[in-house]
Amino acid sequence: MAETKYNPYDNMLQVLKVSADKLELHRNDYEPLKFPEREMKVSIPVKMDNGDIQVFEGYRVQHSSTRGPCKGGIRYHPSVDEDDVKALAFAMTLKCAVVDLPYGGAKGAVKVDPAKLSKGELERLTRRYTAMIIPIIGPEKDIPAPDVNTNAEVMGWIMDTYSMLHGYAVPGVVTGKSLDIGGSLGRPEATGRGVSIITTEALNFFNMTGPQRIAVQGMGNVGSNTCKLLYALGHKIVAASDASGGLSDPKGLNIDNIAQYLGQHSQSLAGCKPDGARQISNAELLACDCDVLIPCALEGQLTEDNAEKVRAKLIVEGANGPTKVEADRIFQKRGIAVIPDILANAGGVVVSYFEWVQNIQNLMWDEDQVNSMLSKIMVRSFKQVMEIVTTKSVDFRTAAYMLAVSRLVKAKRVRGIFP
Ligand code: NAD
Repeated sequence: MAETKYNPYDNMLQVLKVSADKLELHRNDYEPLKFPEREMKVSIPVKMDNGDIQVFEGYRVQHSSTRGPCKGGIRYHPSVDEDDVKALAFAMTLKCAVVDLPYGGAKGAVKVDPAKLSKGELERLTRRYTAMIIPIIGPEKDIPAPDVNTNAEVMGWIMDTYSMLHGYAVPGVVTGKSLDIGGSLGRPEATGRGVSIITTEALNFFNMTGPQRIAVQGMGNVGSNTCKLLYALGHKIVAASDASGGLSDPKGLNIDNIAQYLGQHSQSLAGCKPDGARQISNAELLACDCDVLIPCALEGQLTEDNAEKVRAKLIVEGANGPTKVEADRIFQKRGIAVIPDILANAGGVVVSYFEWVQNIQNLMWDEDQVNSMLSKIMVRSFKQVMEIVTTKSVDFRTAAYMLAVSRLVKAKRVRGIFP
């Protein structure tokens, strides 16, 4: 029998139901949240370098604009599908509500392996995708940002395409841009900085004092910055990995050396052999002897098959949706706390919001201002979620959903249903 594909959207609907029940909401209050407001599927024909035309599939899903313009990243990945994008868009709605930003949620994706494209092909793909979703994006409607396999360069192509087709520069159409075209100081590290702030708050909450042994899965934007910041705070990064495999050293990896290696090798750990470190698989990383596990790669990494093997006392979700519902239940039973993605990795969207605010008002903030406002919002949000955890005796994920859903429901009630 063919294996049914894991559907992250169903995963989220289950958590929504639990949170809505805890909040004693009427079905009418949260029913609209179960459905994305708008889904766009586009075809993207690209002239390849050899003259052939290849057609790629792209999506932009706007889950909710109840609390403000839609906001969410764009992912390039060969196995991404509509359900993944729907789940990621829903997570953005919840994430923006948890940290109380005046945004709704969206997500975009193109089914492509960017590593197989030349730079020129990638640029043409990005520009055509932008042209196809132009009717629904814009600084007042929906503001994309980087996600897996997209970066400041890709955002620059999107900003340029949008601006050319409007006849004037529109920096506020995307965030995560280069500083040269209206990007914000602090944005590249913001998600990792947010993860490190939330990890620190969670360690305080659980009285886990002193340097901790931390394992990080994924060494892309989120994982590498999380490692750098937690390492700088004196913690030991005992294991780190990416799609090519992982490294472990119970004495702690030298993250400065690893960051240098990543910078010189297209952000890949392949071939990296620091003294004293052992090569490990991703399965070994998830099960390694550590105090804190921080998944920063892709969805669905922690499953019913490996949850029993996890040895960490605390899991902080740097990635979106890394824990399947079944694994979550096992962690709850085993007393392993999980700080959910919608809180833990919200630092990126918070600084994206700062970037957008600077763009639409032609302002430029310094990095200290950005980082201190980020810290204030992350700490405040953690405390608000923690308050629900302690007063309602629920886990962190349910509490974060409860906070987000209650804010969404309030906004929906105030706005009412059109017409
Ligand atoms: P990225 O493309 O920069 O990095 C992804 C990393 O994961 C790479 O190191 C890659 O090699 C690794 N990886 C891929 N498959 C893997 C596997 N099977 N095992 C181990 N490692 C694997 O992406 P990113 O921007 O760092 O995003 C990572 C996660 O964080 C995603 O879930 C994304 O949605 C989420 N996220 C990103 C941001 C952001 O600002 N970039 C914000 C919030 C959430």
